[in-house]
Amino acid sequence: MPHHLTNADLHSHSTVSDGTLAPEAVAAFAAERGVELWALTDHDEVAGQARARAAALAAGLDHLTGCEISVSFAGETVHIVGLGFDETDPALVQGLAATRAGRLQRAREMGEGLARVGIEGAFEGALRLAGNPDLVTRTHFARFLVEAGVCPNTHSVFTRYLKEGLPGYVPYQWARLGDAVRWITGAGGMAVIAHPARYRFSPTAEYALITEFIEHGGRGIEVVTGSHGVADVMKYTDTAREFGLLASRGSDFHSPTESRVMPGELPDLPGSLTPVWQALQERITRAGRNKSLRKNPESPTLVGCPELRAFVHLLRPPFSSV
Ligand code: AMP
Ligand code: MN
Ligand code: MN
Ligand code: MN
Repeated sequence: MPHHLTNADLHSHSTVSDGTLAPEAVAAFAAERGVELWALTDHDEVAGQARARAAALAAGLDHLTGCEISVSFAGETVHIVGLGFDETDPALVQGLAATRAGRLQRAREMGEGLARVGIEGAFEGALRLAGNPDLVTRTHFARFLVEAGVCPNTHSVFTRYLKEGLPGYVPYQWARLGDAVRWITGAGGMAVIAHPARYRFSPTAEYALITEFIEHGGRGIEVVTGSHGVADVMKYTDTAREFGLLASRGSDFHSPTESRVMPGELPDLPGSLTPVWQALQERITRAGRNKSLRKNPESPTLVGCPELRAFVHLLRPPFSSV
């Protein structure tokens, strides 16, 4: 089978960051939906990687290590996915620890901002919902506000409270682009620009992001991802070709009830692109003989029907902004 048709999902989250399923459950969920190659990419943390690898192999999934690093670039938060690195690399581990170090204080300030508009207990609520106290994210605040009946769903919490300029938003200085790329590449991995269509960049700022990313050693860009519509896929297919970047594919799955796109249900990568996994072959841990476990003819997947998969995005409106 040509490389670009591999059902790869190289962007997903577990309870180690802001997903609702444990790493083992995400692996099982992905395998049931026909994923063949999987990476768990928790925000700013690699503590779930050994569990993810073991669970992937048990479920018959080929596996790459992963993470999603928060970066500040030109006044915007940008996410850089790392794939295929050694998760014990000290510079990577220390860099990620430094990146998430201020999250608890930021969360306290977010709670104060929300208290000022009459929403009490949000910090404590978000902390309770966070699987990892080091990694309280806006997603946990969003879930708390839904639980408290303030908003009907997490998306509306972001729109009303958590985006820049709103009461629950606290500006934060994340990692520098070059540092994030070097932590990943220094650990033997590949850096990939996550969901490029979600940033509010001018064409000039986006050009700066891509060229600086490449100068620092970055090599990939997500073309097919949960928040990209058809026009975004077409635009970033052109971008990948223009800049000679490898293309990645990942659902950005967080939860079976919150995420619009489930693992395994993304459109295929366009055949004109070179997938990141083609260049990462030596970094992939193969599921080997367990692979047959993956085949489950009863599972409700679109994998057997590539024509349908290519149209999934037409049925689901993409959501925008980080
Ligand atoms: P943080 O790193 O704490 O700023 O949280 C960022 C996370 O919030 C992202 O990784 C997404 O999971 C989530 N998020 C951002 N924007 C939205 C949105 N509009 N709707 C739902 N979740 C969002
Ligand atoms: Mn997230
Ligand atoms: Mn992201
Ligand atoms: Mn993500």
